[in-house]
Amino acid sequence: MWDGEPFLFHSRLSAALNLKLLHPMEVVRAAEEAYRSGHAPLPAVEGFIRQILGWREYVRGLYHLWMPDWLSWNALNAHRPLPEFYWTGETEMRCLKATVGQTLRHGYAHHIQRLMVTGLFALLLGVRPIEVHRWFLAIYVDAVEWVELPNTLGMSQFADGGRMATKPYAATGRYIQRMSNHCASCRFRPERATGEDACPFTALYWHFLERNEARLAGNPRMRPALTNLRRLSPDDRAAIRRKAERIAQGPP
Ligand SMILES: Cc1cc2nc3c(=O)[nH]c(=O)nc-3n(C[C@H](O)[C@H](O)[C@H](O)COP(=O)(O)OP(=O)(O)OC[C@H]3O[C@@H](n4cnc5c(N)ncnc54)[C@H](O)[C@@H]3O)c2cc1C
Ligand code: SF4
Repeated sequence: MWDGEPFLFHSRLSAALNLKLLHPMEVVRAAEEAYRSGHAPLPAVEGFIRQILGWREYVRGLYHLWMPDWLSWNALNAHRPLPEFYWTGETEMRCLKATVGQTLRHGYAHHIQRLMVTGLFALLLGVRPIEVHRWFLAIYVDAVEWVELPNTLGMSQFADGGRMATKPYAATGRYIQRMSNHCASCRFRPERATGEDACPFTALYWHFLERNEARLAGNPRMRPALTNLRRLSPDDRAAIRRKAERIAQGPP
């Protein structure tokens, strides 16, 4: 993720594919041909084909398997409303301002922005899954329910309790720092969970783990995160809880 670079190396083919202007096999064959003629390296082509032949078909299968039940699942009992800035881009959080801003301008954000910025913030805050789903369905040019819904309710919000993804995609601001240049020009500090300059993602991350500790305790992939939570002192946990609750009242 990079300030001022909304598309990076992504293909922007999803809208054409979902509108059936392009057949997935046509795209796969063109990518294969680019490899065979020496225009693209194998690892890039393999990864790209796997998104279309793998992920896209996988989510389609799951949609037909679990709809309409999926719409009512809320495994983490999330009940907050979606913050207003999702519709305006007016927030001090640089990563969210960039992602929502380009979404409002272009109707596009790439996968990591959807999963690890807008989706992640809603997950950590505990927004009602159905509201997150309605936002993603309304705002992207490629949004068609059969592909949007599994990605949002399953992969991003864990509303299905792990039927689709094996663990919630929960992370602190440090993940966004590693994957972008947004934190360098943000007023918050990704490593801080308390204090005036605490990163809201980081404070909310610990609060998310604390809220869901009992629900996630049986998941082996969550063990390292929950072990780290238990290492925090009771005072630190209380301070983080207060900070996270203040953020939840009115995200900056
Ligand atoms: C919360 C959330 C909501 C999403 N909503 C949509 C949506 O409404 N419509 C949509 O088409 N995709 C959706 N995606 C998946 C993915 O983010 C987009 O397909 C991708 O960003 C589209 O940009 P691109 O064409 O430049 O993709 P590239 O990164 O260039 O990938 C190539 C193609 O692979 C396919 N693909 C890649 N990842 C996925 C995936 N996880 N699921 C299905 N197909 C995939 C797409 O057809 C895409 O065009 C969503 C992901 C998340 C996390
Ligand atoms: S410090 Fe936190 S809010 Fe600011 S850009 Fe980084 S992750 Fe986003």
